[in-house]
Amino acid sequence: MTDTVTMDKIVALSKRRGFIFPSSEIYGGLGSTYDYGHYGVLLKTNVKNEWWRSMLQERDDIVALDSAILQHPRVWEASGHLAGFTDPLVDCRTCGQRFRADHLDDLSCGRKPSKHPGETPECDLTPARDFNLMFETTVGPVKESGSTAYLRPETAQGIFINFKNVLQFSRKKPPFGIAQIGKSFRNEITPGNFIFRTREFEQMEMEYFVPPAEAAKWFAHWLAERERWYIDLGIRPDHLRMRVHADDELSHYSSATSDVEYLFPIGWSELEGIANRGAFDLTQHTEYSGEKLEYFDQATGERYVPHVIEPAAGADRATLAFLVDAYDEEEIDGEQRTVLKLHPRLAPVKVAVLPLVRKDGQPELAREVYAALRGRMQTEYDEGGSIGRRYRRQDEIGTPYCVTIDHQSLEDRTVTVRDRDSLAQERVAIDDLPALLSERLAAPWQSPKLAVA
Ligand code: ATP
Repeated sequence: MTDTVTMDKIVALSKRRGFIFPSSEIYGGLGSTYDYGHYGVLLKTNVKNEWWRSMLQERDDIVALDSAILQHPRVWEASGHLAGFTDPLVDCRTCGQRFRADHLDDLSCGRKPSKHPGETPECDLTPARDFNLMFETTVGPVKESGSTAYLRPETAQGIFINFKNVLQFSRKKPPFGIAQIGKSFRNEITPGNFIFRTREFEQMEMEYFVPPAEAAKWFAHWLAERERWYIDLGIRPDHLRMRVHADDELSHYSSATSDVEYLFPIGWSELEGIANRGAFDLTQHTEYSGEKLEYFDQATGERYVPHVIEPAAGADRATLAFLVDAYDEEEIDGEQRTVLKLHPRLAPVKVAVLPLVRKDGQPELAREVYAALRGRMQTEYDEGGSIGRRYRRQDEIGTPYCVTIDHQSLEDRTVTVRDRDSLAQERVAIDDLPALLSERLAAPWQSPKLAVA
């Protein structure tokens, strides 16, 4: 067993098994954009559903929102994005490439052997200048003044501008939260590392509105909650850490920020940011819109602008972390296998139903088992190729259970259930299968990579 997961291995498996493809490939690709294939869609959907579950189903103080990607341009003036959502950009006059000035040590300028931009005497870098990361577009058929709009660079602002709407219908009082999942767009200067940094990505953000005096308490609460979420979904604790931002790293709106970091193959990197945003956002939108965004407590007569605690995660980055954490290569009886040891709740397919041979009534019985399971969980039926090959295919997409129908199944209506991680096989009555698998999928789970680490 090895834990030498490289990004190349993840990229190759993702392509080979239909998780994630480079976008526009038949046209030569468009740098750092990706398309999700069948198993990628199922995996990322499970990640997002687990996030929704933790926000909506397991608590009663958060409501959902799905705001528009195109918003009034004043939103981005008020939020500070128009003036300040920039990264420092440098050009190299020699090779014509552009780089993020604060990432030069992590970047390569394409020379062989590989060099960092600015590392050789021939490199001729311009001074850094601010580059706004927002994608601009035009609303309506005529490009005229007033028709400029932006693709949202974060989902959070859609939440703040709906604060009043939500407050009116939901009958919530602080502390309460508004959660949203959706696409965001940033014209990153140097995207890369597969789906870690792309220009189009999905965010999972929740804004939690609290009485100002309780902000520190709720900040601590959300740090612990978000760390627990990753660990409950099987991320190995020794690959996860919380990193407190130093004062000079803090955004203009934040009085405290901590990142949840994961040990990616590229080193420790941000998975999610948790910030205490104070009253900044609601105050700004009140000033720019003229709408009072505050809470009035009828019981006490108190009126105040709630403070905001924000856990902001990336659905694609989380998906990448789960893939990396799950990836394993093992030798079993002299044969090599690649396996994704994903948490069963995240696994794209929960169970595969496999007749041992394609005759003697086995496919018919297998289809009956398939029909009994598919209404309950994502199930796959596969009768093509040797049983070994079919197991390997399911291992590579992380399917936790394979159900095999053999000659005995036709005699006594039992099947074997093969466990992806332990490889144990047990004989189970067909009638007990749906309940047994549902129960196992709901049980707490720990990465088997932990036990051997
Ligand atoms: P970074 O420092 O990596 O650029 P950030 O601090 O700007 O990230 P936030 O604005 O806090 O990121 O966004 C919250 C989350 O959204 C990030 O933790 C990350 O998971 C995700 N995210 C941000 N930018 C990208 C991107 N370009 N591609 C994929 N995910 C992203």
